[in-house]
Amino acid sequence: MYIGLAISVIIIAGLVIFFRKGLKTNKVNNIVPANTRQLLEENVAFYKNLDDADKVTFDVRVKDFLTTVAVKGIEVEVEDLDRVLVAAGAIIPIFAFNDWKYNNIWEVLLYKGTFSKEYSTDDAQRNVLGMVGDGALHHEMILSQPSLRSSFIHPTDGHNTAIHEFAHLVDKADGSTDGVPEYLLTNPYVIPWVTRMHDTINEMKRKNHSDINQYGATNDAEFFAVISEYFFEKPEQLKDHHPELYDMLEMMFHTKK
Ligand SMILES: [Zn+2]
Repeated sequence: MYIGLAISVIIIAGLVIFFRKGLKTNKVNNIVPANTRQLLEENVAFYKNLDDADKVTFDVRVKDFLTTVAVKGIEVEVEDLDRVLVAAGAIIPIFAFNDWKYNNIWEVLLYKGTFSKEYSTDDAQRNVLGMVGDGALHHEMILSQPSLRSSFIHPTDGHNTAIHEFAHLVDKADGSTDGVPEYLLTNPYVIPWVTRMHDTINEMKRKNHSDINQYGATNDAEFFAVISEYFFEKPEQLKDHHPELYDMLEMMFHTKK
């Protein structure tokens, strides 16, 4: 009986230490800037274009996101602006999905520049702007801080590293990062989407030139991430050049007014 009691005490003490440590960690890294709305208004074009009611919703969801996902700097100072931009990149793709929660991300690491696939910033082959972790880095995302900021400084150039990486997480939410985000695509639309995606990738490869970022021809997952950037940054142009793709993405992201 005494042994049972002793074990219980040890377990309870362990839990107390664990949760206190957890709370402490959250306190250090999960920072929700007090001036979130102002930062959104000044720096996020998508937010500026929302009506007042949607602005309130967007602001709440950005804050919600930052209470669950920490933004940490690796050799860089994380500013409130960075936190808000990361969260904006997370919310933009799934803004139409009121109940969407990212269950596959706990932490976003900001690097001082580009990095290599081995996460080294000094590597000669550093050319990666963002990455969603796998294996040991499961639940982590890495973004280049300069690329994150420039993504929102140029909101209509078709490139947004944060939207790109969060599109990968939306795709990954069903268990596989394969260019087929099953939470966005009901069954009858999966085959038409895959067909359209493959036709476009094949055309990009054949011509070796496209209005779509050529990196999207790497594989299906990269295609979905790249076309999501294009969709949210230059919708009119995408609609002109690829009306069928545009219609499908509009249906997937529920952005049709
Ligand atoms: Zn990618």
